[in-house]
Amino acid sequence: MNKKTKKQYGFNTLALHHGYDPVQEGSKSRAVPIYQTTSYMFDSAEHAAGLFAEEEEGYIYTRIGNPTTKVFEERMAVLEGGEAGLATSSGQSAITLTILTLVSQGEEVVSSSYIYGGTYHLLAESLPRYGVKTRFVKPDDINDWEQAITDKTRVFYLESPGNPRLNIVDIEAVSSLAHQYGITVVVDNTFNTPYLSQPLKLGADIVVHSTTKYIGGHGNSIGGVIVGTRDFIHKVRTELYRDTGPAISPFNAWLFIQGLETLSLRMEKHCSNAMEVARWLSGDERVEWVTYPGLPDHPRHELAKKQQRGFGGMICFGVKGGYSAARNLINRVELCSLLANIGDTRTLIIHPASTTHEQLSREEQEKAGVTPDLIRLSVGIEDVWDIIDDLDQALGG
Ligand SMILES: *Cc1c(COP(=O)(O)O)cnc(C)c1O
Repeated sequence: MNKKTKKQYGFNTLALHHGYDPVQEGSKSRAVPIYQTTSYMFDSAEHAAGLFAEEEEGYIYTRIGNPTTKVFEERMAVLEGGEAGLATSSGQSAITLTILTLVSQGEEVVSSSYIYGGTYHLLAESLPRYGVKTRFVKPDDINDWEQAITDKTRVFYLESPGNPRLNIVDIEAVSSLAHQYGITVVVDNTFNTPYLSQPLKLGADIVVHSTTKYIGGHGNSIGGVIVGTRDFIHKVRTELYRDTGPAISPFNAWLFIQGLETLSLRMEKHCSNAMEVARWLSGDERVEWVTYPGLPDHPRHELAKKQQRGFGGMICFGVKGGYSAARNLINRVELCSLLANIGDTRTLIIHPASTTHEQLSREEQEKAGVTPDLIRLSVGIEDVWDIIDDLDQALGG
């Protein structure tokens, strides 16, 4: 990576090379080594004091930073088009650290109501105990966002596509509104990954991920990442990250580096398989409705086309016969795995109303777009006809 400046490389090259130089690594190890260590030797008392005072660069303790994790953080930052990254033990810790760094007691968040159930619960139930209030809005209407702003609003929070309704939010419009009021825009980009969209380039200020999903990609490790300005990441790292301790294990950071190496290949296949499955489902008379941003009848299809490189691997649909028909389908699938995750190489299926969004009241479920008949499908990279055959037999006669 020394002939061209790094900025000139494309997405795939950066995903494979950025942030690590084997020549500078003492062993010349071609693969990124795993630094499975808690702590790092100081050269002297003065060196130690310099590191703690942040007058010198270097490592102190893996709860604050680690060389393997740093490669992952730098790679995520460059792929998202941000200045710096911070890897965390889970997506939820990335989200919690980000919000708590931006708000203090008495201040407010305005959030899209179409978000991951765990995040909804954090904002609606847990943070109010510490004096942080969230106003939820229907994210498609820019007027709703504006009306929810008060002089205490510090953060706009959204997912696009949202979990699980796959609504698409106009990130450019929401960000420019926020910036008129000095509000920080945080986007959870888990469903798209930086390969499909880069919210920072659309005006968002901070991106968070559950890397547990497509970034890791193989359903084997929990983790998260925050990408933002150098100042913001430094503040999170030296304050709440250090104080509360949700550091990622270096081994998991290394697995996420492996995931990034094939991210674009997997995302292309997730997208093309999901497109075929969505088309098949919408043509089947046992299916009541299908939501997929790649279908022309998706209400924000044109915006998805403009804002994303592809339409992703997630599909929602409803089966004729409602709740009981949805349960029957889920009990009959053989290839699709019934479990609470997304973004695995394998196809996953779940009924959110009784699982991922079960923490929410019926009214909150309604607000989050979780209808009783909704089935969420995370389309894997198997042969697409095997996925379709499985859904076909599970839908029954
Ligand atoms: C899974 C998920 C999270 C939570 O991430 P964890 O890694 O499970 O903590 C947050 N946001 C979205 C969109 C998710 O899908």
